Amino acid sequence: MHGVRITRTELAWLHSTLQSCGKPTRNVQVAATALQPLSTDAERPQLFYISTPAPSHDRLGHPECAARGAAILDALQANKLTPQALPGQLVHMTDFKKATADDICAVHERSYVLGLEKLAARGRDDIVDAGAPTYITSTSFNDALQAAGAAMALVDAVVEGSSASHPAPAGFAICRPPGHHAVPKGPMGFCLFGSICIAAKHAQQFHGLKRVMIFDFDVHHGNGTNDIFYGDKDVLFVSTHQQGSYPGTGKLSEVGEGDGEGTSINLPLPGDSGDSAIMAVFDELVGPAAQRFKPDIILVSAGYDAHWRDPLATLQMRSSTYHRLTSKIKALADELAGGRCVFLLEGGYDLQGLGESVSETFRALLGLESVDGFNADLLRDEPTDKVKRLIAEARSIHSL
Ligand SMILES: [Zn+2]
Repeated sequence: MHGVRITRTELAWLHSTLQSCGKPTRNVQVAATALQPLSTDAERPQLFYISTPAPSHDRLGHPECAARGAAILDALQANKLTPQALPGQLVHMTDFKKATADDICAVHERSYVLGLEKLAARGRDDIVDAGAPTYITSTSFNDALQAAGAAMALVDAVVEGSSASHPAPAGFAICRPPGHHAVPKGPMGFCLFGSICIAAKHAQQFHGLKRVMIFDFDVHHGNGTNDIFYGDKDVLFVSTHQQGSYPGTGKLSEVGEGDGEGTSINLPLPGDSGDSAIMAVFDELVGPAAQRFKPDIILVSAGYDAHWRDPLATLQMRSSTYHRLTSKIKALADELAGGRCVFLLEGGYDLQGLGESVSETFRALLGLESVDGFNADLLRDEPTDKVKRLIAEARSIHSL
């Protein structure tokens, strides 16, 4: 903060952002670059991000590897998406509290959480779920607490940011290990703790935000998130994923149960679906579902393995698709939820596609144009008729 001059208006904004309205913050600190003078309203903060890439949570030959975090950070640097290049607009939150075991136990069984801690304390690499091999190293338990803590801190930041008169800045966590497959009883599908579910509980219990929407655009069904909130009417879970891909759940007919009937919306996209499919599905299903639900905050499980380059699936999103999709999500958050919107990294296993796509997401959240010049003629034709049928069926099932 040394030597930085800020005006009274900027000071008021920072107060409203960094200090809660009667609610304590969770030790959120903002890098000094955030405190550059803001000369116009357009230069107010647009995006808070946290980077907790877990370099020691790594396994030779595993797709969910430490190189993923490095690839994202390199791409952001190469694209000049840094607080130094965008002073005042892009804010790097450098200090935040990791989640506690109690925070994790809001969505996972205590015996699992404590068991994983013990296992990690032995200091040996291990496989903790053989299905889609999920590994731990000596740092993984702590890394998973950091990832969940990052999600909670970004919820704090956007909630506090929304107390100003403008829509809140968005949040993005570059966090590993991922979380959306982890079930209440244990790890699954490369995931240890369901960070997005923990963030949702935090938004409800700490900030009093009753209605949470979780949108999951990872190519795989977020079965852990779906399980955790399947009977909860206050959490709307909407997932787009490739039909028939791991773990095999997420059928259109899975709509929630009990009080939560209707608040799980599973949209399995046929193979080869790409930009046209996801835009149509968003405009005709996701957007109307959000309008009806009226969330107080939108959380996004941002997996980038639906990218055409990704080796784990056969959808065909382009890097620019994530720009368009992000713009639509943020517009919904601005309209319905005071702008409160936090993205958490999930999958994405082609390093080039991942770096480009996260950069495009950042550009959209910063109000910058897409720079993806990819020639879409190189892709396969999309299954337009199948997507139309999916939309019609989903509209009928969910009365949208
Ligand atoms: Zn995935």
